[in-house]
Amino acid sequence: MSIEQFFKKISAQRLDNSGAPSMCPPAGSSATVGSTIAYTESIKKSIDANQINIVGNPIVKQTCPFVAAARLNDVRQRGGESLLTEQEVAALTLRPEVFAWVPENIFPGVRMKCPACESIVSSGRWSRNRTLHGLAKQAVYITKEYICYKCAAVPTSKRSATTSGDSCKQKPRKQKQFQADAPEALAVLPAHVSSMWHFANSG
Ligand SMILES: [Zn+2]
Repeated sequence: MSIEQFFKKISAQRLDNSGAPSMCPPAGSSATVGSTIAYTESIKKSIDANQINIVGNPIVKQTCPFVAAARLNDVRQRGGESLLTEQEVAALTLRPEVFAWVPENIFPGVRMKCPACESIVSSGRWSRNRTLHGLAKQAVYITKEYICYKCAAVPTSKRSATTSGDSCKQKPRKQKQFQADAPEALAVLPAHVSSMWHFANSG
């Protein structure tokens, strides 16, 4: 589909939607635009499935909105559905960049370590989305949180054998939970990795 054809379709759609167009896709549509939150969730799933490569660059840029609109319209057209509304096209153009701080995906060979015992932690789960404020624009900031089960698995006898004094007062070590951008987690990463994270955390 050419750009000219695309805008002709958009114009036709504008006439068809002379009432109050809705952001909702047609019922059962296979091609939805979705909210920023839904878009960010799709980015997370794509990173987990290795469908988005962030090696060396944690910034996920949006697909050109015109290309994305043309693809969605093609899918809808094949399914006999109505084309994108103006609001949906606008939503496509406003999709933000996403900064994904997942060191094991950015740096080949790097594994996350528990800040307490420095054991390798195999997998993490996505934490809440935050906003990355730049000088001229904002991006969505995402990272993962991890749990070290080895911290919790250390037997009491082994711990007390390594310490002197009253072992009865030793408290069992709890599972260690941490985020990839926590200062203690950055501290056990290689310097070339931790030096890439140079932001101020405002909460
Ligand atoms: Zn640990």
